[in-house]
Amino acid sequence: MHSVIRSIVLTWQLGMGCAVAALADGVTPDDAGRRLLEAYPEMIAGVEDGQIVWRGGGRMTIDDGRGTKSFEDLIEKPDLQDIFAITYPDGDPSPPGFNADPGRARPESFFERMYGDCRTGGVEKNLVEVPWMPSRTRQTLKVTRVNGVAERLAAISTELERLPKFYDVFLHPVGGTFACRAIAGSQQRSTHGYGIAIDLAVKPSHYWRWSKPDAQGRYAWRNSIPFEIVRIFEKHGFIWGGRWYHFDTMHFEYRPELLIK
Ligand SMILES: [Zn+2]
Repeated sequence: MHSVIRSIVLTWQLGMGCAVAALADGVTPDDAGRRLLEAYPEMIAGVEDGQIVWRGGGRMTIDDGRGTKSFEDLIEKPDLQDIFAITYPDGDPSPPGFNADPGRARPESFFERMYGDCRTGGVEKNLVEVPWMPSRTRQTLKVTRVNGVAERLAAISTELERLPKFYDVFLHPVGGTFACRAIAGSQQRSTHGYGIAIDLAVKPSHYWRWSKPDAQGRYAWRNSIPFEIVRIFEKHGFIWGGRWYHFDTMHFEYRPELLIK
């Protein structure tokens, strides 16, 4: 995977411009559908004729037929296939390639169907309080119970409590979970608005918007979150914002489809 990203970066540096085609790892609509079905069995009943079939009725087309998208379109107008355009890496944290943001293509209609629309109260009715590392803090976190997210966060909390105290500085106080808002600097709804995201302690974290680009406009990846923490979240279906070129190292969100091989 990392060699793929490196070759992408190289391609980019050789002057291919907005060659997001190079970023696409060639996931077919069928393969995208299979991963979504495996990730969200409570929601999706099957995959047929290039569409996912919702358990509650209705379908959603996997490939919008618009072909290869620019990076901006991938983020702003993704279809279900585009979720997988950039492979989510595993292993130790390492600097992502230019614009390699696996998981930042999020079709709003898909997530809204599963978790609701926070602007009309559709998400709140499924929010539950999860005690956060109760042996160490008194914080409780609001997340959705849909797709078992609350249970998984509770399991993560239990595992994190087994880490040495050295890790506490990264783990609490938690910066936030549910918040009905757009992503800073964009029109896209944040995954915090679906109740599936958590920001760990803000102080030791790094965020690309807090850093200055170099003379070429590139952001240098920074991270201090230990991998032991990342591994526990990923084990329970959460992806990490520290694996993005547009890094957000305090941020985790429930996106099991990206962790399926
Ligand atoms: Zn966040």
